[in-house]
Amino acid sequence: MQLAATSWFLARHLIGSALCCALAWLFLWTGPVAAAEAAPSVAPAASVAAPRFPVRAADDAWRAALPREPEAATRAYLDRLSPEARARSDAYFEGGYWLILWNTLLGLAVAALLLWTRPSTAVRDWARRVARWRWLADAVYGGFYAVATWVLTLPLTVYEGFMREHAYGMATQGFAAWFGERLVQLGVVTLILGLSVSLLYALLRRTGDRWWMWASVVTVSLSALGALVAPVWIDPLVNTYKPVEDGPIKRAVLAMAHANGVPADNVYEFDASRQTTRVSANVSGLGDTAAIRLNDNLLRRASDSEIRAVMGHEIGHYAMHHITKSLVMFGVLFLAGFAFAAWAMRRLLSRFGARWRLPSGPEGVADVGSLPLLVGAIGVFMFVATPITNTITRTMEAEADMWSLNLAREPLGLSEAMLKLAEYRKTEPGPLEEFVFFDHPSARSRILMAMRWREQRLP
Ligand SMILES: [Zn+2]
Repeated sequence: MQLAATSWFLARHLIGSALCCALAWLFLWTGPVAAAEAAPSVAPAASVAAPRFPVRAADDAWRAALPREPEAATRAYLDRLSPEARARSDAYFEGGYWLILWNTLLGLAVAALLLWTRPSTAVRDWARRVARWRWLADAVYGGFYAVATWVLTLPLTVYEGFMREHAYGMATQGFAAWFGERLVQLGVVTLILGLSVSLLYALLRRTGDRWWMWASVVTVSLSALGALVAPVWIDPLVNTYKPVEDGPIKRAVLAMAHANGVPADNVYEFDASRQTTRVSANVSGLGDTAAIRLNDNLLRRASDSEIRAVMGHEIGHYAMHHITKSLVMFGVLFLAGFAFAAWAMRRLLSRFGARWRLPSGPEGVADVGSLPLLVGAIGVFMFVATPITNTITRTMEAEADMWSLNLAREPLGLSEAMLKLAEYRKTEPGPLEEFVFFDHPSARSRILMAMRWREQRLP
């Protein structure tokens, strides 16, 4: 699942643009920590210009000669990547490790700036003077906060989302078009943050010392709401969705969906090629709002067996209720995160509250002017929890692969698709590296799983 790699922040992990957008909610609280998945880094300029990712093509003879033994078969797949291609994708993905750190540090710097300088408290005081209701004043501050952080993190956003994507040959947009989409995103985030800050602080004023429990309830509820509405109202703001032409592949995907309880009556294609060369697909929505969506890069670049394998994976996410399970697991994580924030804020407010013009104790937490402190604390927590969040999503991704193998029975198609994903994900990390940094399993792990299935289940 791709968090609208348009990347409503998160092109990051997760199950579908729905979950992505849902979690965008969660990550709004952590600010720029979120952007980590999209993550390429400093590009060795000379080696990265190639527009196409060289994978040696396979034909029927190659497939017929593929060893039966899983390790050997996996090696045969991975050896089709040229050394240059592998070096490029390693550099891109490893750069993302550093971006997690830079995003966290920048998020903290922005929080410090807003706490230690006048503009933040000035906006808070001004909003209270002009707005008749407290909830409206809080919403205005939430909107200000969205715009201020957007502006202050813009240089890193441009580097990460535009320059680096172009350096690695994955972006297809000029700067004006890209920037226009960022402005649309800013509008959406400002509106969402204004509303949710207003809701959150109305609650914080009434819950005293237990505020951190209620804050996680609000966050999870808003995330669920986001999963419902994002595919319908937000995704179409930057991409066009239209039904896939009738034909064998559409019938095959719908048959798999209906056999697995996905209440969808159509398959949609969206024009991701406007933004990127990456292939992706998702089954978005919750319950009856389910929609099967695949991007035009996948339709154009992948064979029918690859498309069946990828859609079997996405259907698996839906059938196994991965969005709901993620909400529960991230809810527990956020409970811990807000508990940490409560502890950190109590200490920091009693030490620096007066200089930040914030009351200490629960009144300080309930003052919307302490929002940068809350976001900073959650940002630190999420940074430390990176291996946990990645393991939650990576585990579900492996489950969806297994579902695809059992449903679509296309181990070769799945493996071939995984080679395409190797364009932007390191193929053969060490075990610790995969545990800490991978929100999806590596190509090696995924192809090996497919080859083991093939050995046992295909005659
Ligand atoms: Zn997935």
